Amino acid sequence: MKVLAHCGVVGSEVRPLYFLKGLNEKIADARIISFGACNFACPYCKRDGNFRAADGSIVSAIDCDIEDLLKVCDDAIVKKQVVRLSGGDPVVFPEASVAIGEYVREKGGRLSIAHNGSSPQFIKRMIDLGLESAAIDLKGTRGDLGLRAGLKNGLGAKMYERSVETQDLLSASGVFVDVRTPIFSNTTLDDLLEMAADIVSGGNREQEFWTLRLYKPVVGCDWDAPRNTESVIWMIEEVKKSYPNLKMGLRAKWEPEGFLYF
Ligand code: SF4
Repeated sequence: MKVLAHCGVVGSEVRPLYFLKGLNEKIADARIISFGACNFACPYCKRDGNFRAADGSIVSAIDCDIEDLLKVCDDAIVKKQVVRLSGGDPVVFPEASVAIGEYVREKGGRLSIAHNGSSPQFIKRMIDLGLESAAIDLKGTRGDLGLRAGLKNGLGAKMYERSVETQDLLSASGVFVDVRTPIFSNTTLDDLLEMAADIVSGGNREQEFWTLRLYKPVVGCDWDAPRNTESVIWMIEEVKKSYPNLKMGLRAKWEPEGFLYF
């Protein structure tokens, strides 16, 4: 299977799950296993998701055996890290994702997933494996998710509904959910209000957190940088006036102090 290496080493990336603090849980370190293909093609993807090799995988992806990924899981479990399946997107490698999930469960580890929200069916399989937390993308509104994710033929609106369904399935099953939305230069308050209404419409709100992330320009994408942090904080405060119980965060910078809770 194809995976992405972090700094040249597969499975070496560790990231704190800051959103857990917003749900009154302890921040845990996640060990990231990045699969090397994605069913979206976001122009701003930091992992080259829109640059494809001949076999459809991400151009920088390399071959890896499942045994090597299970060794990463062993190391993560010893270090008390959460094993997080990420990407690309794990949905492109469902059997490997399930195999890793079964292994982590068998070994008494903790399992998490980062998914673009495109497949409630896939997520149901992962929930059955004892998934503890999930980051689910909601990259834009019904009207602009197609542009944000590089999807054609009206697929954006369909994927929007699937993401909301996926979030609801997870939170209703007791999984901690981090809904993730990138903020671009032309993201509006109305956009956020549309998404907020859908995030709170189903599932279990107590299990759901909504993280906004400022778009950082990447090579190959000519979109403008977002407005300044203060204007995004203003939009969050406006959203909170309509949805005071919606737990929100803003990743303004990648340093720990750059994660703000609302
Ligand atoms: S869903 Fe994520 S991994 Fe896939 S192309 Fe978009 S940003 Fe990249």
